[in-house]
Amino acid sequence: MQLNVQPGLLASDKAAEAEAIVGACVHCGFCTSTCPTYLQNGDELDSPRGRIYLIKEMLASGSAGPTTQQHLDRCLTCRNCETTCPSGVQYHDLLAIGRETVDALVPNRRRKIKRALVRTLLLARRPLAWATGLARSLSGLLPVATQRLLGPAPLFADAFEQRTGARVLIQAGCVQPHLRPDTDNALSHLLAQFGVAVEWVHGCCGALSAHTSAEQQARELARANLQQWRDAAARGDIVAIVSTASGCGLQLAEYEALLGQQLTAEDRELIGKVCDPVTVIAQLHAQQPDVLPDLANAEPIAFHCPCSLQHGLGLSDAVQRLLTDLGASLPTITDSHLCCGSAGSYSIFEPAMARSLRDQKLGHLQQSLPATLLTANIGCQMHLQGGTVTPVEHWLVWLARHTFLPIEE
Ligand code: SF4
Ligand code: SF4
Repeated sequence: MQLNVQPGLLASDKAAEAEAIVGACVHCGFCTSTCPTYLQNGDELDSPRGRIYLIKEMLASGSAGPTTQQHLDRCLTCRNCETTCPSGVQYHDLLAIGRETVDALVPNRRRKIKRALVRTLLLARRPLAWATGLARSLSGLLPVATQRLLGPAPLFADAFEQRTGARVLIQAGCVQPHLRPDTDNALSHLLAQFGVAVEWVHGCCGALSAHTSAEQQARELARANLQQWRDAAARGDIVAIVSTASGCGLQLAEYEALLGQQLTAEDRELIGKVCDPVTVIAQLHAQQPDVLPDLANAEPIAFHCPCSLQHGLGLSDAVQRLLTDLGASLPTITDSHLCCGSAGSYSIFEPAMARSLRDQKLGHLQQSLPATLLTANIGCQMHLQGGTVTPVEHWLVWLARHTFLPIEE
């Protein structure tokens, strides 16, 4: 496809980027076969090819209507289409340009307020901590479904933090530390078993802002995190920078694309250290194979690989490989490449599509009757837990539980 962006509509670098991405698309349609929204409703405009076409029309004409906005909103940003595309079309970059443009061309006050409200609520760490703390203390009085969402009482105490010397930085996000405080602690206890120290960095990664049309806020959050990383690097060697929520990890890994020319060489070096915890644990396990437990007698599990991990970070089977290497038995999941419908804040804004995708995913995950479902992202964890009585756990918590507590036979 060829695109000539309407003069003056975009900054010149963004216009050139959009033209290059659209130009790479040969309209073959291979991507439609793996697009969850297209597979749900069969609407070409809810497929990657259809959305590329809508964005192309908008950028060429400089005009758009609510239909374009609706179909772009309905995209999960799961990037399954990028994994499938034989031409290497960087769809998510084009989508970001498309969303920013459509929001400018189609002002929608109600939509804007709703998004700002969700951002404010989820980014307000103190009120969130207070609300989850109160809910936990009243847990016995709450409906069973809400109790399941709150999860079990935390198992792992806050681990010792080291602020100098060689260490892994754990980027603690905004939502997970309150909803599932065990996840970061499980990672820190596992790393301690390998003799690796950790330091926490507190601050939202910016993914929620980026996904709700607040690019400027996403950039500010990224800059604030980079400052904390630089400060930490000044106190000692940073081995890796990780987030236990793969959606946040993907956002951190893409700070270079977000901030571009504003970055220094030191910033780029630090961004290069961002990786998923599975990469760190798998490397340590290869060096010290006796630290982690034999999982051959563990209860039946099934793993849902978040889109951010498989399509975003390209680690489609890293967790499965590690757990299988430890003796765990993992069933093959039908359509494991498809999104569960969580997709960051998507399940809040597009609840019908999100529920439909979740129910389909749970059906596939539960085919082998697992006792526990595992995943690697807080969004997927909460979204899936909302649709099943089977416990949904972060794989790090499950692994830490089996490392530090005996397996019941
Ligand atoms: S698979 Fe790639 S090249 Fe083919 S239509 Fe989809 S985005 Fe375009
Ligand atoms: S990102 Fe996901 S939902 Fe969006 S067009 Fe690509 S495959 Fe479809």
